[in-house]
Amino acid sequence: MEKYSFSELLAYQVSNTKIANSENELSIILDIKNNQNFPTNRRMSSAWLKAIKSTHQRNSSYIQHANQSAIRLREEGNNFYSSKSGSKFDNMINAAQRYTEAIFAAIGNTEALALAYANRAMALQELEYYQQAYDDCVCALETNHYPVKLLHKIKMRQAFCAYYLKDSEKLKKHLEELEKITLNENFSQRVKELQRGLKNLDEETKIKTEETINTVLQLKESTEVKTDTKVATRGRYMIAKNAIKSGEVIFSERISSFVPVDGCQICQQCGAMLIIPIPCHDCDCSIIYCSLKCRRNHKNVHQYECTGYLCRLFEQIGISHLALRVVLEDFPAILPIVSYETDIYKLWQTLITSDGSLYTKTYVNYIQTLQMVTHMQKMSLPNKLWFALVADLLVVYLKDYTNFFAITNKTKLKQCDWESIVSALIFRHIGQFIVNAHTCSSISPTNYDVSSTTNRFGILLVPHIWTKPFHLQRGMLHSFSETKEVSAANLPYLSICNHACGPTLRPKFSGRNFYALADSSIEKGAEIFNSYTVTYKNSLRNNRRAYLKEIYHFNCTCTYCQKPDPDKSYLKYHVYKCRNPTCGEKFVPTDKQDVSAALHWWQVENGGVSCTFCSEEQNVEWFMKFTELLENTNNAQTRLELFRIYDIVDSFLVDFHTLKMEMGNDLMKMLIKSYNAGVKYNTFELNKLVSILNFCQRATIDRWGLQSLEYVTKMSVLWDFIAVGAYQSTQLELKTMLKALDVVSDEYKQVFLNYYNDYLQNK
Ligand SMILES: [Zn+2]
Ligand SMILES: [Zn+2]
Ligand SMILES: [Zn+2]
Ligand SMILES: [Zn+2]
Repeated sequence: MEKYSFSELLAYQVSNTKIANSENELSIILDIKNNQNFPTNRRMSSAWLKAIKSTHQRNSSYIQHANQSAIRLREEGNNFYSSKSGSKFDNMINAAQRYTEAIFAAIGNTEALALAYANRAMALQELEYYQQAYDDCVCALETNHYPVKLLHKIKMRQAFCAYYLKDSEKLKKHLEELEKITLNENFSQRVKELQRGLKNLDEETKIKTEETINTVLQLKESTEVKTDTKVATRGRYMIAKNAIKSGEVIFSERISSFVPVDGCQICQQCGAMLIIPIPCHDCDCSIIYCSLKCRRNHKNVHQYECTGYLCRLFEQIGISHLALRVVLEDFPAILPIVSYETDIYKLWQTLITSDGSLYTKTYVNYIQTLQMVTHMQKMSLPNKLWFALVADLLVVYLKDYTNFFAITNKTKLKQCDWESIVSALIFRHIGQFIVNAHTCSSISPTNYDVSSTTNRFGILLVPHIWTKPFHLQRGMLHSFSETKEVSAANLPYLSICNHACGPTLRPKFSGRNFYALADSSIEKGAEIFNSYTVTYKNSLRNNRRAYLKEIYHFNCTCTYCQKPDPDKSYLKYHVYKCRNPTCGEKFVPTDKQDVSAALHWWQVENGGVSCTFCSEEQNVEWFMKFTELLENTNNAQTRLELFRIYDIVDSFLVDFHTLKMEMGNDLMKMLIKSYNAGVKYNTFELNKLVSILNFCQRATIDRWGLQSLEYVTKMSVLWDFIAVGAYQSTQLELKTMLKALDVVSDEYKQVFLNYYNDYLQNK
């Protein structure tokens, strides 16, 4: 079986299964089960899962080797920890980074793992990440391999962290534990100090009735988002109940389920990205959490997914993973309500057609999901069969490797019927998510100039960027000058919105919360539109329509697509002025079969650009030159040449030309790096710099608006120049820019605001 890939397995099963066409997911699942080849297919699925699992089994010499490297990495961390040279903060970051590597390297519950956690706790305490340090102590003790002779040390650390977190209950507990251990003079002294601290804490709590003990990042998890009453839904679309001002929140929704994009390191529970990762060791550190609290809260899901992660099952099934996760998260909650049902068909009807009267309000989330639009009926029969068999494979996985179906023990229906129901539910959600899964985008750390380990352990553990937790060094905000798709999410309420190429709403994702912000002012009664693809300012109508047709099966007839000149708003970013002195006409190069390629003529594979009036081929050699020179902006001569090219380009790339903006952005990113490397700019250069920055700001706002991640990422570079004194900004400009942060997630907003307070507000 090993030689079968996932798609080969599925293709084979599709080929030997015959079913009647139906729009009912359960009918298809039951039909599959009645096939004569079904037992063979089931055996194949089991064997395939067994095969992928066995390839991830570790032999003892592998484990030994891994734990040895964990020990070595911890020792490297210790060297940084005790280093006397360089900045203490960066030494601690480096130490914490190595300890994290050690944590990820260790396999099984060993002393190597216990000490890696304990040592990271030590570094994190120095860095003032107290909650994270406290959690690491718990992780170290959890291994049951933490050396008994060092117990007083870790208890002391927990007590200290509890004190800084103002958690008097925990502090009391750890002090009691310490009293039972014989301590030397030094430690006894510290215990006494902490006892005094406890007394003070108790006094404080008497004064303040409510004390926040969690960090900013963890607060977010408890924030409950309530659906706003500004909108009403009618059938399958959404209208504004009242007039809504530009930038206001139209509605908000809690993301009921999400799965991180492959390789994207975010907390599986709260979606946070700026974290010190705590991995799950049972699945080879495939997933991470920001805290033990999140690990606890995610257990109801991960207990069933851990093995799947271990054998890399979810990497292969795409959006079906989100379908599985919704079932794991939401299905158990509805079980008690339908446990009396004895007829599988009736049960299915109850689930998918309920008007909600059957359920109490608590489960309203899953009803919304179950009733979301699906494109089942538009799928070809082989496609339906394919996804139904994927759902069946996932049920085989749940049966063979988890005790998921134990939750159905106390119900009237037989387990094999529940298997069919779960299969049908996963299948239904796949059909829904093909059209209704939402991609969450976020600001993302730039991996331009940081080592590749950044990607794995997160930017908090990158040295030479931070001054203290969530406070960047001056000139380092451009570390956040990119955006990335980080997860796929289920948002049933947002899914009610129809598509328009010029959407009414702007999405904002913050942890597990989604906010729809008004793109412009909305009149009472106006329909609220989302965009399922790239907007009209950033794409050609035909390309957009082809995509919408292929994925969503409709012809877009939105106001933007129906305009007599539908591509005008996009093509204005591609106007070129012929460089032939006897011609000099302005044109948009759309003269090729592939219009998009013609517009992006500067990319080598697209073959240049010719004037549509005089046919003269335009010189594009300068672009290669510019790209080359960007590598060496520390050199004054190079910079002069770069500015010269930029000036020339300005004469034939008209207005907010896409390329002129991209070149400007790239140049600015390199110039702030050079500045940080110690290069000083003369007045001529500073003037150039300011004018290019101004141009890029205006161009970005014209195209994406002020409240957009695109703008904020460009703003990060501008703020660096303001912080280092190379660019002057008025109070009004600063205030406007702060407004842009409304689209940014809480955790990144905090970093930007800290930066603003540290370096900008008094400029
Ligand atoms: Zn979390
Ligand atoms: Zn796991
Ligand atoms: Zn359209
Ligand atoms: Zn010409």
